[in-house]
Amino acid sequence: MTCTELDDLIEPLAAGDVEPSAEVRAHLAACPSCTASLALATRINRVLIAQVAPVPRPDFTAALVARMRRERWRSEQMLDLTFNFAVGLVAMIAIVGLWVAFSSTGLGAVGAVALNAAGHALAESAAHAAPQASIYMVTTLGLVTGLFVWWWAERGLGL
Ligand SMILES: [Zn+2]
Repeated sequence: MTCTELDDLIEPLAAGDVEPSAEVRAHLAACPSCTASLALATRINRVLIAQVAPVPRPDFTAALVARMRRERWRSEQMLDLTFNFAVGLVAMIAIVGLWVAFSSTGLGAVGAVALNAAGHALAESAAHAAPQASIYMVTTLGLVTGLFVWWWAERGLGL
């Protein structure tokens, strides 16, 4: 048995959780370093056992639970506020993006025509919309991000 192997056994030996084998006893008899470690661990263990666990006040649990509820409520309010601000911002960006996309492509006017002459006007509006695909994509991404944040926040609060 080496000192390193015995090192893992010092703590359970000092606590009396493990009975020393003949091999351990032989090493301890021959090795002053491990004997000193065991003596120190045994002293520490005795000091720890002698410690009296503090008795909590009778209202400790109730006060702790009340404080946890209060702190959780505050953090939920903060999360709610941040979430609403983020969703508002994303919605505003999406609306502005859609407005820019519609006004720059003339899609609004084409849309009115499309109501009258369905098939042809729809194809035309799609052709008009094609160059603005990046704006639609950014807007859609913003919307999806907002919805994801919403879903995530709702799930987080539901714990
Ligand atoms: Zn040793």
